[in-house]
Amino acid sequence: MSFADLGLIPELLQAVADAGYTEPTPIQQQAIPVVLAGHDMMGGAQTGTGKTAGFTLPLLQQLARHANTSTSPARHPTRALILAPTRELAVQVFESVRTYARHLPLKATCIYGGVDMNAQIQELRLGIEIVIATPGRLLDHVQQKTINLSQVEMLVLDEADRMLDMGFIPDIKRILALLPVKRQSLLFSATFSEEIKKLADQMLKNPQLVEVARRNAVSETITHVVHPVTSGMKRNLLVHLLRHQPDTQALVFVDTKLVCGRLAHFLERSGISADAIHGDKSQSQRTETLEAFKGGHLRVLVATDVAARGLDIDELPCVINFELPHTAEDYVHRIGRTGRAGHKGNAVSLVCAEEKHWLADIQKLIKFEIPQQAVPGFDAEPEFDEAGHHGRGHKNRTEAAAHSDGERGGAAARKSSKPAGKSAKSAGKSLIAADGFDFSKPYIPATSSELITASAASTHPSHPPQRPLRPVAVLLGGLGRK
Ligand code: AMP
Repeated sequence: MSFADLGLIPELLQAVADAGYTEPTPIQQQAIPVVLAGHDMMGGAQTGTGKTAGFTLPLLQQLARHANTSTSPARHPTRALILAPTRELAVQVFESVRTYARHLPLKATCIYGGVDMNAQIQELRLGIEIVIATPGRLLDHVQQKTINLSQVEMLVLDEADRMLDMGFIPDIKRILALLPVKRQSLLFSATFSEEIKKLADQMLKNPQLVEVARRNAVSETITHVVHPVTSGMKRNLLVHLLRHQPDTQALVFVDTKLVCGRLAHFLERSGISADAIHGDKSQSQRTETLEAFKGGHLRVLVATDVAARGLDIDELPCVINFELPHTAEDYVHRIGRTGRAGHKGNAVSLVCAEEKHWLADIQKLIKFEIPQQAVPGFDAEPEFDEAGHHGRGHKNRTEAAAHSDGERGGAAARKSSKPAGKSAKSAGKSLIAADGFDFSKPYIPATSSELITASAASTHPSHPPQRPLRPVAVLLGGLGRK
């Protein structure tokens, strides 16, 4: 199938050809005709599937009848609103809109928090047809009356599950109340919980369900591996792995901002160019770091889940979980940054005994057992094989299959995989490396951090609060249509 077969107008076909796309991806093949037909849509697709073009191309075609070159702001009311959970995702969607709209006189802007509002206000005053926004900053503009949403015809809610995780649903509801009732609405989410379904009920009218890979399915182009290792040796193993693949860029995931900054610093000290991206960095720092990474000037980007949300880095070859996520679905989101658009990718996880039960949860969700490879010189704790109540081999594989059927399976499996003793142990995960480097301490620049001694570090409390586990949401297939 070609893009022309989807009924796109010449201006969009030209833009798609300029971008070098020859064939629509499965989500594009399914979503574009639905949106062009004017239906509301519920899209089950993760980043990496081409979903942005899947909604942007038909959105632009729906708005093309309004395209004009007038300089009067009145001729450019806001007709489409695209909501994204993070600044990074909003900027990426904005870049896609600009790419695909390059042969159409439609104006777009991106508004997000953490930066001065004045430049955004000036731009909105000129009249902008397509606004890509994060919810909080959009409401700031609404409050200041610097945006008028009364002529919005199309609404896109991107990564709705992330909106939910980040507590944006009340803001979304406030925004929905400000929009005309007569509009076309699209909702995209990688996962569909009851809350997302409730939101969809409020937001969509007779939606068509478009789903590409089943939720939580992982790309087949990704090779997964687990390296069992003690928590104390993880950072040395990371350096070892990176040194053995000197040309590879990697996105390294950690669980906390503290570990994020300190691990990037450790890599730098080990001669590997690295930087950290997390919620405490300013927008300009985050943009700068991301650009350096995308431009290949930085070999390693160390990130937390929130900061990395929606990152679209072309041909990223490797994602490394320095720490396993505590929610199995986050594993799918993390590794979704590699193996995109048909490219090959590697998902490497450094796992210590205390994380074994999270590994079991992940394997249940993705429905296969990740091969384990010990790296010589970096052994796991002796209790690694018993930890998490899951040995390697057949038993694990059988459980992974048996507990893969959504919410009930996940909850039941979680219960059976964590007897009380093990849970208590896992809550006390150590952040102190074998050589005394304490990841739980605040970031200290190079010279003074060298002063941290093993004995000083070992007196530091090492009991980070454990995040509550999110229930594994129901499968998309169980979603009731209206
Ligand atoms: P997304 O899922 O929207 O984040 O897109 C993932 C990546 O796929 C982006 O880098 C897009 O530029 C790229 N992409 C989108 N559509 C296509 C296509 N039809 N052919 C090749 N690459 C595409």
